[in-house]
Amino acid sequence: MTTETLFTRIINREIPAEFLYEDDQCIVINDIAPQAPVHMLVIPRQPLPRLADASQADRALLGHLMWVAGEVARQYSVDDAFRLVVNNGEAAGQTVFHLHLHILANKGTDQTFSESKL
Ligand code: 5GP
Repeated sequence: MTTETLFTRIINREIPAEFLYEDDQCIVINDIAPQAPVHMLVIPRQPLPRLADASQADRALLGHLMWVAGEVARQYSVDDAFRLVVNNGEAAGQTVFHLHLHILANKGTDQTFSESKL
């Protein structure tokens, strides 16, 4: 039985996903069940289960993930309006226990952010 997270399997190319961005610390993919017209996930290669599990040693990685979110928002032209969401813990809606940032944007639609489930 594998102990790898779903996202580690995506990072290792065991499960198919288009990498919209990647570097030595993280990848960015589209969410399989988008909650907004643009819904991307920034996923660290290091499988930290939850944000609350981050240690002081992870501070640079956390900062990098935030920077990548802004960079990818610029690349996909949604930098004028987007939300970043991190669900921490099952009761907060976390379903994959491998830290990830949701980037949500409504570019080109009349949809409001309040319609998003996240
Ligand atoms: P969470 O609920 O843990 O904050 O977010 C997990 C996200 O991963 C969900 O929005 C869900 O749609 C997405 N997801 C689950 N399985 C897959 C998958 O196999 N591929 C992709 N691209 N996204 C997935």
